[in-house]
Amino acid sequence: MKVIGGGLAGLAATARLAEAGARVDLHEARAFLGGRAASIPADPHVPGSAHIDNCQHVLLRCCTSLLDFYRRCGVRDKIVFHDELHLVTSDGTVDTIRADALPVPFHLLRSLLAVRSIGWADKLSVARCLRAMKRQHSRPNFDPDSLTFTQWLRRMRATNRSIRRFWRPFVVSALNEEPEIAAAGAAMQVFCEGLLGSRDSYQMGVPAVPLSDLYDAALAGRFGPSVRLHLRSRVRRVDALDHEADYQILAVPFDRVAKLVPELRLQRRLQGFETSPITGIHLWFDRPIMDLPHAMLVDGDLQWIFDKGEGYYLGVISASRAQLTQPSGDIVEGALRQLEEAFPRARTASLEHSRVIKETRATFSAQPGLERHRPGPTTALPNVFLAGDWTATGWPATMEGAVRSGYRAAEAVLTAAGGPRTRSAP
Ligand SMILES: Cc1cc2nc3c(=O)[nH]c(=O)nc-3n(C[C@H](O)[C@H](O)[C@H](O)COP(=O)(O)OP(=O)(O)OC[C@H]3O[C@@H](n4cnc5c(N)ncnc54)[C@H](O)[C@@H]3O)c2cc1C
Repeated sequence: MKVIGGGLAGLAATARLAEAGARVDLHEARAFLGGRAASIPADPHVPGSAHIDNCQHVLLRCCTSLLDFYRRCGVRDKIVFHDELHLVTSDGTVDTIRADALPVPFHLLRSLLAVRSIGWADKLSVARCLRAMKRQHSRPNFDPDSLTFTQWLRRMRATNRSIRRFWRPFVVSALNEEPEIAAAGAAMQVFCEGLLGSRDSYQMGVPAVPLSDLYDAALAGRFGPSVRLHLRSRVRRVDALDHEADYQILAVPFDRVAKLVPELRLQRRLQGFETSPITGIHLWFDRPIMDLPHAMLVDGDLQWIFDKGEGYYLGVISASRAQLTQPSGDIVEGALRQLEEAFPRARTASLEHSRVIKETRATFSAQPGLERHRPGPTTALPNVFLAGDWTATGWPATMEGAVRSGYRAAEAVLTAAGGPRTRSAP
């Protein structure tokens, strides 16, 4: 069997097929595994690790398939979970979201009510929207894919401040899309599964090592001796009649599929897909600038800041269309201004080095109407299968979605091959 693409989708498919005893050839165009969840060499004169991540990659505890995949890879212990999320305003007010003993779905209620970045009318509107979301999300006659999240919030009479300072920061970072563009269904899924799903589903996992250590070249070997890894092996064209590979899984981004297998006739379907960028801002200060391990910044362009240790900080701007044409120096200046407002210690620290990484096609944009265009794992060709975060996973473009798609494609192959079908993930 052949798997094309060594991102998380292709790796997950490979792991599952190898577990079922299949011989797998995994082809990856680049010299390393991990796809978009990748590390790049650090500038040699910057102290610290030899690699930095293209951007911060985090997960939530509700990412059950991804955690299952990490266990299979033997790297589960490299993910550190945090049970506190910190919301920081431009005047430096820190609010902390944390579960307490109240029963689910009220486990976060007390900390949400204590948030100071929004007023009481806003909090009541947040509580009302969360309740309505939970009710409507599972209602069969409600189509949350037909309107944007902002349209839905307006219908629910959400206050302007709650949209700006509560809903937007969560949605933009989880979906990599503005609430005025993102489908209501995608946003609701984030809140229903992430915040309200179970007592610990909101907890955020952060890799304690560079992503390149999670998906190193030795990884494929860990899936079993039947896996052969081909790095720097760009597949130009998928031949459905390839006699060497009885089944093939295409685990590449959506914009590569039509070229690789024109006979699938996916062009029209894929026209519905647009992409959204993410910008990572790497900052090396001469000293620490904050006491928190990470913070969600509720005002301004910079949405998250992560403490990577020894004065190294990684900032994230999701849905960063405005930054695409902005010079890196201006982006760094804007981030510094925001950090100095929120964290007084940043005012006396000196920035020694910075690097801005713009991922222009970071993820697909989860817009209304897109769900029906996302294909499942099977195609019109009986031996060609699809995987990737953009396929129909029920999840936005995330590592969890990618792993789910890989497992599902592998299950579809095993079914087609007549082998035993087992549930491969929780
Ligand atoms: C900057 C950034 C930040 C992100 N942050 C988060 C986050 O915090 N949390 C989260 O869950 N998700 C995050 N994501 C999204 C996440 O990285 C992706 O959803 C996930 O990694 C996609 O995996 P994939 O396997 O579907 O696709 P990809 O990772 O794109 O893998 C596809 C692979 O196929 C290879 N390929 C393409 N064409 C060919 C060919 N012809 N032959 C052989 N190989 C080929 C590519 O080189 C690539 O390695 C982020 C993404 C970016 C870009």
